[in-house]
Amino acid sequence: MTVSRFEAHTAKVVYLYLLRGTKRTLLIDSGLSGTPDDVLLPGLAAERLEPQQLTDCVITHADCDHCGGDAALRLTCPQLHLHAPVGDCALIEQPERLMRQRYEAYEARHGVGYDLETKTWIAQTAGQATPVDSVLKAGDILDLGGVTLEVMALPGHTAGHLGLHHVEEGTLYVGDALLGHGEYALDGTLHAPPSYVTVSGYLDTIERVRALRPERLMFAHREVVEGSSVLPFLDECTRWVHEVEAAVRPSVQRPGGATLRELMEEHATRFGTFNAPIDLMYALAAHLDALVAQGLARVAPDVQAPGRPERFQWVQ
Ligand SMILES: [Zn+2]
Repeated sequence: MTVSRFEAHTAKVVYLYLLRGTKRTLLIDSGLSGTPDDVLLPGLAAERLEPQQLTDCVITHADCDHCGGDAALRLTCPQLHLHAPVGDCALIEQPERLMRQRYEAYEARHGVGYDLETKTWIAQTAGQATPVDSVLKAGDILDLGGVTLEVMALPGHTAGHLGLHHVEEGTLYVGDALLGHGEYALDGTLHAPPSYVTVSGYLDTIERVRALRPERLMFAHREVVEGSSVLPFLDECTRWVHEVEAAVRPSVQRPGGATLRELMEEHATRFGTFNAPIDLMYALAAHLDALVAQGLARVAPDVQAPGRPERFQWVQ
């Protein structure tokens, strides 16, 4: 089996993997809206592959740097079969919904979100609405001919995030499902904190991968982790979650509780100095929701603030 890796750049690197079996050739993720033309076509040419030889593309999850290239890929490879995880499919197919339900998800409840410049960039890179051909769920098998890929549910970063386990080689393609202590920018600075929308989903994913004991992990935004480095990396993922949890609890326990915005200001640099501290909104909101789900906190409207974001108070 041949594995190739294509490399697109935003503030951080974006890796796309091309897996070639004897029957089919599969791309993992389509990148940003410009990636198929800018990176994929030259990459295929360098591999001496025609665009029509690309038979499949699996989108790991709903994010503009992973599914934004779908429309351009369709134009380039009209016969290509596009797969998406069942849980993220609607957001992958509809960029407007992706914007509303993922990138603007904290605006109404918490009064927290991206600035206009960032949203404009997201809208441009998320591409055009594109229907997929099939949805994938955990346990599905993709047979490329000599290459068996098993679909794994790896939720947390998004609700429906999937991974592909190349069974013969013990390689797990995880996309953004495992994020260590954050993502690095091209210049080596710490770019964004780990982002997950559910704490329980993210922790389950870490444990599911631990139980699988893969030989190596392949990521969208970092170099391979393999062999004896796999378990320490998974420990690092878990440790970050526990550090955030340990920080959020005392903030909510204070008299009056806390809003998401207050948490973001209080803990802006506690877990690292990030280029995009706004991305802390995902994990911090997930921890607040987890406290409510566990019956440890409750939500009250913030009567102090004009937009009335939710205020989280400890349940005595
Ligand atoms: Zn990503």
